[in-house]
Amino acid sequence: MKIAIVGAGVVGVTTAFELALDGHAVTVFEQRSATAEEASFATGGLLAPGVLDPWSAPGAASPPSVLGRHAAMRVGRSISLAELSWLRRWRRAAHASARSGTPLPSLVALERLARYSHARLQHLAESLDLAFEHSPGTLLLLRTPRDAEALAPALKALRDAGTAVRELDTEMARAIEPGLSPSLTLAGALHVPNGLAGNCRQFALLLRQAAQQRGAQFEFNTRVARLSGSPTGVQLEGASAPHPFDAVVLCAGVQSAALLRPLGLRLPLVALYGSSVSAPLREELHAPLAAVVDVQTRTTMARLGQRVRVSGGAELGRNTEKAHPQTLNTLYRVLGECFPGGVTHSSGVQVWRGVRPMLPDGPPAVGATSVPGLWLNLGHGASGWSLACGSARALADQIAGKAPDIDLEGLGAQRF
Ligand SMILES: Cc1cc2nc3c(=O)[nH]c(=O)nc-3n(C[C@H](O)[C@H](O)[C@H](O)COP(=O)(O)OP(=O)(O)OC[C@H]3O[C@@H](n4cnc5c(N)ncnc54)[C@H](O)[C@@H]3O)c2cc1C
Repeated sequence: MKIAIVGAGVVGVTTAFELALDGHAVTVFEQRSATAEEASFATGGLLAPGVLDPWSAPGAASPPSVLGRHAAMRVGRSISLAELSWLRRWRRAAHASARSGTPLPSLVALERLARYSHARLQHLAESLDLAFEHSPGTLLLLRTPRDAEALAPALKALRDAGTAVRELDTEMARAIEPGLSPSLTLAGALHVPNGLAGNCRQFALLLRQAAQQRGAQFEFNTRVARLSGSPTGVQLEGASAPHPFDAVVLCAGVQSAALLRPLGLRLPLVALYGSSVSAPLREELHAPLAAVVDVQTRTTMARLGQRVRVSGGAELGRNTEKAHPQTLNTLYRVLGECFPGGVTHSSGVQVWRGVRPMLPDGPPAVGATSVPGLWLNLGHGASGWSLACGSARALADQIAGKAPDIDLEGLGAQRF
């Protein structure tokens, strides 16, 4: 089939690879000049397990507070009605999960996809010899016993699926991450040995090359102005008529909802902003070796080769380019508290503000729409890289008319 993909973030690239692998003639349209320039640019680097990101789905962490200086989510004055409605749905679901102490079906669906995706990524990395920065292991820091309670549903989802999660005391946590500050007080820690930290953008660039070697074409600096339903196709900015394709896959991240609206398709997709700071190593012995999540502040620290990346923050209704000063303060403070002296701040520091394309129940929308030939692979939220390889393979199987290797219950593109 002749297939168009809109968007060359990590989701568009993995989709292009899988469809090219299946022998389709793939063209990717990307408005930016390169791969992974938007949400996939400087992600936290937490690759597995996907449900351990506090924003992966309602119930993955305690219900987010929105008031006060230390609110988990900062709500801007320009919040829209759609964003308010998203927030209400997310908080209601998070409270329901916290009350029951069990994972919601959406968190279970996300865990299933993340586990499948991790296996697919490892297979691709090995079989294609993709040399991207990565380091094994994920450590969760529990500053108080309440941190463990907040994680209970996510841990249950992981353990029910057979993922090993070890409970550690402070000494054992320090043996795993020797750079942890001796003055950091912990109630304990959890360790997921088969967790992974890595460099998302580097992975996307390498997989784009692999897709190109299989015939996928990438058209950069090319904005899709409209999707067309009959005939199926895309109308590029400046063009007078749509380009016809046998199928179109929308992977345009947070901008997807605007492209769907003229076709009468509405998705409750919102932009949840966050930031990351990447700083060069100063002293290896004082830096994280892999992924470390500070559960209380919802901050992730990850080792990426010769750099450390700290990321977090959640801002709704605040569409500016600049990182929120309080978010940045938290990132620097937490990194300093956990790994003092590990990085240098004097030069080579990269500050990034990015967006999580979020649906209200957590998992992405993967599959067919009511418009013939139009498919979705979008809304990967806080775990886009963790989910991308799996959702791309499952979508390619659906397009081929085959049953995907995993149950896609809870991930359908028409569930809203
Ligand atoms: C602070 C922060 C930390 C994060 N940490 C992690 C993490 O540790 N692990 C993890 O797995 N995930 C993480 N994420 C989430 C992850 O970054 C996203 O889920 C993921 O990058 C989404 O990928 P995407 O391809 O859907 O979107 P994008 O990367 O945004 O790609 C969409 C692409 O579509 C293009 N596009 C849009 N409209 C058009 C158009 N009309 N025509 C042509 N092109 C168009 C855009 O230019 C863009 O390149 C984090 C996000 C943030 C903000």
